[in-house]
Amino acid sequence: MSGSNDHIGGEARRYGKATIGEAAARLRAGGLVAVPTETVYGLAADSTNAVAVAEIYRTKGRPDFNPLIVHVPDIAAARSIGRLNGLALRFAGEFWPGPLTLVVPKGKDCPVTAAVTAGLETIALRCPAHPVMRQLLEESGLYLAAPSANRSGGISPTTADHVARSLGGNAPMILDGGPCQRGIESTIVAVAGGNYRILRPGPVTQAQLEAIAGTAPLLAKTDLIEAPGQMLSHYAPSKSLRLDAETATADEYHIGFGPVPGDRNLSPDGDLAEAASQLFAALHEADASSKAGIAVAPITDNGIGIALNDRLRRAASPK
Ligand code: AMP
Ligand code: MG
Repeated sequence: MSGSNDHIGGEARRYGKATIGEAAARLRAGGLVAVPTETVYGLAADSTNAVAVAEIYRTKGRPDFNPLIVHVPDIAAARSIGRLNGLALRFAGEFWPGPLTLVVPKGKDCPVTAAVTAGLETIALRCPAHPVMRQLLEESGLYLAAPSANRSGGISPTTADHVARSLGGNAPMILDGGPCQRGIESTIVAVAGGNYRILRPGPVTQAQLEAIAGTAPLLAKTDLIEAPGQMLSHYAPSKSLRLDAETATADEYHIGFGPVPGDRNLSPDGDLAEAASQLFAALHEADASSKAGIAVAPITDNGIGIALNDRLRRAASPK
């Protein structure tokens, strides 16, 4: 909700030059700032400041074994803290700035504080495309650790209002950049040697990755927690969620897709990118509605639909 300053908790600020300057100063002083990216709103702090990073975990109620993504302005910055091999550089060259996170070995003398990587020898790096986040990176001169700006396990925020509602009295300054264009978290890819694995499906699809790599990804190991934050119950509304629902009962809020109209339709044309941009806003609306439960229409399981169904399965998992 651009422009409204009456958020619960945090001080929502419309994006502008002065507010970027103020936000950058807060970050340099070890504070937190909620900031829009093209995927979802992030809760940002200086990734080299242990106290500031601890405050991210505390504010979200996030378990400390769930590492954070570090946001950098460009490939050169990424190379100063992580070791990007040939394949990682090809992915970065094609998809950055954009919704792709690369998990690579940490660089020698990496200044990022240990809590960011939850003690792992690897680091997750992303170069975001959103102009507000880019200006914040430039103005602060920092590499920003930023998970989604919601209480851990809850529905991800795609508007400033979602951030304020989810974090309540713990919300820091929120830069309001309007709704996020992609609306779903980045694709996470781990690169090791000439191989890669998709740890979390997202807006960059497997087909797009294969076109650059020239090979299919290795299967992510299921016997070992490779992306420690990929808990089964995540993105969860407070109500029960039923999937693949062509119809809904009278006490269910129905999220439609394509030909299934629903109370709100993610994309009447069946466009998966449009549906991704609407998914979390629809879940927030359904959660706030007077209906006791939520039902979601079947979503095509290919391309970005794979990421949508991943988020929906986790949202539907018992807590
Ligand atoms: P979020 O910022 O809430 O979207 O979560 C970040 C995701 O990145 C979590 O699921 C983490 O498990 C994943 N992640 C961050 N760092 C690493 C890493 N070094 N190795 C594997 N996954 C990571
Ligand atoms: Mg999250």
